[in-house]
Amino acid sequence: MKRRKFLKNSTLGSAAVLGVTPLVSCREAASPMPKPELLPGGPVAICTWDFKNATARAWEVLQEGGSALDAVEAGVMVEEADPGNQTVGLGGRPDRDGYVTLDACIMDSLGNCGSVMGLEGYVHAISVARKVMEQTPHVILVGEGASRFAREQGFPTRDLLTEASRQQWMEWKKNEDYQPVINIENHDTIGMLAMDADGALAGACTTSGLAYKMRGRVGDSPVIGAGLYVDPEVGGATATGLGEEVVRTVGSFLIVELMRQGKSPQEACEEGVRRILARKKGKPDFQIGFIALNTGGETGGYCIHPGFTYRQYDAQGHRNTPVSSYLKSSES
Ligand code: ASP
Repeated sequence: MKRRKFLKNSTLGSAAVLGVTPLVSCREAASPMPKPELLPGGPVAICTWDFKNATARAWEVLQEGGSALDAVEAGVMVEEADPGNQTVGLGGRPDRDGYVTLDACIMDSLGNCGSVMGLEGYVHAISVARKVMEQTPHVILVGEGASRFAREQGFPTRDLLTEASRQQWMEWKKNEDYQPVINIENHDTIGMLAMDADGALAGACTTSGLAYKMRGRVGDSPVIGAGLYVDPEVGGATATGLGEEVVRTVGSFLIVELMRQGKSPQEACEEGVRRILARKKGKPDFQIGFIALNTGGETGGYCIHPGFTYRQYDAQGHRNTPVSSYLKSSES
């Protein structure tokens, strides 16, 4: 995507365009040059996978002048409420004992963040995470404490185990094959990043985690720095895939730091995947997908196995972008 950073009203910029030497006094020349103001490349919203309705909802919020934070929350809530998505919210696949447990986190441009882990009985884990951020002195609430907090905040309770997910779990129990399946069958966590018209960034990530995980298992998605990270001066990143591997490298934080060092979102995502693979021997049999957005509105993504995409809405419209992969189709 074309980089969209503009210099605004910079004396130096205008002078350069006109081909003249800027007229400044010696005193002015001796003082440090003012930094040109960078205009943001937003609004823009992207999310892992082709969650068109979710990204459209985020875009709607941005178009109405809403904040990036409101946009990412409203966006991922669409998937949390969809029983057809079996790795997020309502209808998520349960853990090996049959409990649907949700993990989510949210982060804004000011470095505020909130997270819930192992939340049971509430559809909108992302909104509970936002309440943790806004209404408590803490960043993370887990398990029973997270559920009690959700109840106190007035969130309605609901049984999240749908008949379809229950049937599949019963089927799985027949042989209890506890091997995570790679790619979209098992990895369609929604991670979303947005920048609003003011240039503020925010991110949200929500999941029911790996299907048939051990009770109490938490992956990368609700871990700030692993499943999601946002830095107002640089950009944001989010992940999907085998969370254990993303946690080990603090993947999203790493990608943001790589962008800070000058890498594009695409280059940073590629390096993030390479860091994970550097510790592995042989062909990786798990999937990881990263997406990133910088403050100039540039986006990028990279994954291990082919098949990962991300949906993007911006001033140029919307599209589902196939992501290049470390392994090619013939090797996967
Ligand atoms: N990252 C999630 C986890 O490990 C799984 C996924 O992306 O589907 O819990």
